[in-house]
Amino acid sequence: MLPVEVMQRAQSEFLNWQNQGCSVMELSHRSKVYIELAQKAEQDLRTLMDIPSNYKVLFTHGGGRAHFSAVPMNLTQSGQSAEYLETGSWSVGAAKEALKYLNVTKLGDGLSLEQKLQHAKHWQPQNNAAYCHYCPNETVDGIEIDWIPETNGVPLVADMSSNILSKAIDVSKFALIYAGAQKNIGPSGLSVVIIRDDLLDKARIETPSILNYSLISQFDSMYNTPATYAWYLAGLVFEWLHQQGGVTVMQQRNDQKAQMLYEAIDSCDFYNNSVPSEYRSRMNVTFHLADKQLDADFVQQAEDAGLKALKGHRSVGGMRASIYNAMPIDGVRALVEFMQDYAKRNG
Ligand SMILES: *Cc1c(COP(=O)(O)O)cnc(C)c1O
Repeated sequence: MLPVEVMQRAQSEFLNWQNQGCSVMELSHRSKVYIELAQKAEQDLRTLMDIPSNYKVLFTHGGGRAHFSAVPMNLTQSGQSAEYLETGSWSVGAAKEALKYLNVTKLGDGLSLEQKLQHAKHWQPQNNAAYCHYCPNETVDGIEIDWIPETNGVPLVADMSSNILSKAIDVSKFALIYAGAQKNIGPSGLSVVIIRDDLLDKARIETPSILNYSLISQFDSMYNTPATYAWYLAGLVFEWLHQQGGVTVMQQRNDQKAQMLYEAIDSCDFYNNSVPSEYRSRMNVTFHLADKQLDADFVQQAEDAGLKALKGHRSVGGMRASIYNAMPIDGVRALVEFMQDYAKRNG
């Protein structure tokens, strides 16, 4: 979801943006007015996340996955190593892509999720790792790591595609944060990279220019034409977040929404979530029905009741409610009521 207020505003200024006599998407990215818009979006994001001044903020193409390849290319030379924490399908995907470029060590490979996470709390990277990579919110599996790993001075890289801006985080603990836009920032096609500036000159010579963080930074994210409309919408979402009271208010709402949903799951044998409670995601709540045969019927009836996109990812099955920032509490309440009613009718 995007906040409805954001879409209404975009609609109202769609044909004539700020009396320019044209749509914002028809403006040149080199025009003064567009550059001002782009800078304001960056500034708003910086304030929202309290990003220290020695970090660059980049708006790039390629969604989240672009950075599965861009991170190793920008931070290592061939033959170097990095360490990956695998906790679910996205971090596994990131490690797999990184293998094309470097030696990948997997933290606690073969151990259980909880054991791996125990290691990650005080991460001791092996083989002169150039960086440590993890995914603090596993979108598909509904797993969220709420603390930040200590990595013994090795740069920490995080894929925050699905929980950026959902709560306050200490950016200074990270060397690099990246996020595809389409979960908590705006429409797809855009991604945001927050990188500590001492890491900007380490890219391999063969890194494609449009993925070269140093080059993108030198050109203020306009080395090539950026996704101008997506950037504009992201800027509106940042303004909306400020109006709501910022990330701490989002955090309270997100806690409340997730708690309502997990309570509904835990209080009824009809539903079940097997993620250890301290690692349950507040953005993506996964659950299974006790009777798998009912999965398809549940999803269909929910859809008919206006509750959309509840089918779990094909790799894990079951159900998943993605309750990003823009999902109102009433949306979660409606789902909880539907679940209680469905259980009564079918339990
Ligand atoms: C959605 C997602 C991605 C992939 O994003 P794309 O924009 O489709 O490349 C990567 N990581 C996480 C954690 C995600 O949730």
